[in-house]
Amino acid sequence: MIQLYIPLGFLGVLYREIKQSLADMERLFTLLDQNREVADGAHAQPLAARGAEVKFSNVEFSYESNRQILFGVDFTIPAGTTTAVVGHSGSGKSTLSRLLFRFYDVNSGRITIDGQDLRDITQASLRASIGIVPQDTVLFNDTIEYNIAYGKPGATKDEIIAAARAAYIHDFIETLPDGYATMVGERGLKLSGGEKQRVAIARTVLKDPAILIFDEATSALDSKSEQAIQAQLKEIAKNRTTLVIAHRLSTISDAQQILVLEHGRIVERGTHTQLLVADGAYAQMWARQQAKQEEAANSPEAGELD
Ligand code: ATP
Repeated sequence: MIQLYIPLGFLGVLYREIKQSLADMERLFTLLDQNREVADGAHAQPLAARGAEVKFSNVEFSYESNRQILFGVDFTIPAGTTTAVVGHSGSGKSTLSRLLFRFYDVNSGRITIDGQDLRDITQASLRASIGIVPQDTVLFNDTIEYNIAYGKPGATKDEIIAAARAAYIHDFIETLPDGYATMVGERGLKLSGGEKQRVAIARTVLKDPAILIFDEATSALDSKSEQAIQAQLKEIAKNRTTLVIAHRLSTISDAQQILVLEHGRIVERGTHTQLLVADGAYAQMWARQQAKQEEAANSPEAGELD
């Protein structure tokens, strides 16, 4: 029981790091209940999510009092639709998802789901309604079955297999020496970035949340895996309210709404086509990424990616 001897200070650091990466937050919240920065109000009610419309109203936020990160952020994700956020590194994209998961409370303004302020909802019900596919999935040192089942405690084997199939990872698991009982994580079988993301997708399928947050990986997977994962995500995003933190514009061109964030402010919004016509910041980012892709396609190393 080595865990018993881990000093609380270390847990605090671990907590902050993992919170930052949005990974495995539900588990960590259970482990470190005492470290929560936000607490349920005395009158907090379970979230009664219907379609799960997400609304940020004039949100201002700072992690530290001397440095404001978000300024008057105002947008609605209509129930069952996808909104993607793009912007330079540090513009505040991931902060939006941390606030939606209520890792922190807003300084002013409010965030609501179907009209219910996050501060009036129990955190357990909020987090049960949100599924996250993080940039970098941290696997537990346990079986691959446990790692998928984590999405829904008490899930049956049939449900786990169905989720693995939906995430296109079942066939891969079957090729492993111990199948679903194969140990993964740091001390077990190392999975590739794409395989780990598929585990995260399987977890999310099992959890079946009304709201989905997809934090796109900054480092691209090889293009075949990337396309397959994008297709799966589109499938699971159907009819869910989805927030995509995007790094590659090509993956979000069919989102119902795209927000462009600059230094914590929304400077443009619209569909891909509308934003290209507007010929502003988004159009410039798009042109730059297209040029980069062409360059990569023409370079001899590009063929090695697949
Ligand atoms: P990237 O594309 O690089 O992931 P981002 O747009 O998602 O960036 P955020 O992670 O939302 O950016 O960060 C926005 C700003 O908030 C950054 O300047 C960052 O340094 C700051 N920040 C993020 N987390 C914290 C924290 N825990 N404490 C203090 N400042 C923070």
